Amino acid sequence: MNSQTVMQSPGTKKFPHSQFQGESSPLLHLRHVTCAYHSQHPAVRDISLSVNQGEILCLLGPSGCGKTTTLRAIAGFEKVMIGEIYINGRLVSSPTVHWPPDKRRVGMVFQDYALFPHLCVADNIGFGLNQWEDSQRKSQIHKMIELVGLADLERRYPHELSGGQQQRVALARALAPNPVMLLMDEPFSNLDPDMTIKMRKELYHLLRQTKTTSILVTHDHDEAFAMADQVAVLHEGNLVQCDTPETIYHVPSCPFVAEFVGQADFIPGNIQNGKVETELGAFTNQGGYEGGANVLVMVRPDDLQITKVGAGNARIESRQFRGSENLYAIRLASGRLVHCSASSTEIYDVDAPVGLTIIATHTVLFEHQS
Ligand code: ADP
Ligand code: MG
Repeated sequence: MNSQTVMQSPGTKKFPHSQFQGESSPLLHLRHVTCAYHSQHPAVRDISLSVNQGEILCLLGPSGCGKTTTLRAIAGFEKVMIGEIYINGRLVSSPTVHWPPDKRRVGMVFQDYALFPHLCVADNIGFGLNQWEDSQRKSQIHKMIELVGLADLERRYPHELSGGQQQRVALARALAPNPVMLLMDEPFSNLDPDMTIKMRKELYHLLRQTKTTSILVTHDHDEAFAMADQVAVLHEGNLVQCDTPETIYHVPSCPFVAEFVGQADFIPGNIQNGKVETELGAFTNQGGYEGGANVLVMVRPDDLQITKVGAGNARIESRQFRGSENLYAIRLASGRLVHCSASSTEIYDVDAPVGLTIIATHTVLFEHQS
């Protein structure tokens, strides 16, 4: 039996597949890739994924899960211990093959941008164009400066630029040699939150406009959801799910993914007469769990609605105002806590008794070990 089962009622929401699925062979293909700094403890294990032309893939996960290692292996800065990496159908990494980064024709934006402090903006951007003919080089630098909106700043040095401007230089430098793919390691981590949102939108439009195949590393699920066609979630060096943002959120492959990408509660249930009986009510058992089986039902805040106030077995524990909504923590009769979102104008008192109704359009079940 699957450890995770999705039940979706007919006529309800469908989660989109990547718009690029089914097209010709992928631009990037990782096959069972393992990389290790110390042979006993691989930093990433058995990673397989594909990225198609023009697609944006986000590598998402907490600190230390192996995002940078995976990106550096693709760029050619780390060797692979097991497995293969193909770019444009060519084998570029395996235990016996290793193409250097410049031969792979990938552009890289490092976490700290790694700009050359002694070079001005134009020379930073033109750094990878040494082999180009002079007039072509000048014209490409000019084109990149226009593309990232740095006109009038081309003679400035990195220390004379804001964080956002430095990031644009790093982006322009990576894009200047017309790479087959752009790799970015947490490109917004040095920016303040307002700037991050602005630069994220700019980057998104730039990548779409130029149809640049990209891999973006982030630990922020909002960022991954906003940017990606596909999100690859890493946990302790393993790829635990690679799917569209919608599928990652609504149909997570395991409780780790469920909690990493949003608020999730897990309610114990038991299969009785073909249904999953829980203290919130009965859910359909379309996953084929056998009678008597113990499962966990994943409940998101938007799966529940407060329908009775002043009566009911549950009690409001706290309210968190989030601008566009209120997030309520609600204590069930069993003592278990669940979370429920309500509109920003729906304000209920703490301690008020309430009743809850399930409005989930699909249900995700996990095996309950205990
Ligand atoms: P992330 O980018 O997701 O934070 P990393 O890929 O940097 O994760 O790290 C994955 C694992 O590899 C971590 O356990 C980290 O400590 C280890 N690691 C990363 N770089 C090195 C290195 N240069 N030498 C030894 N271990 C490293
Ligand atoms: Mg990292």
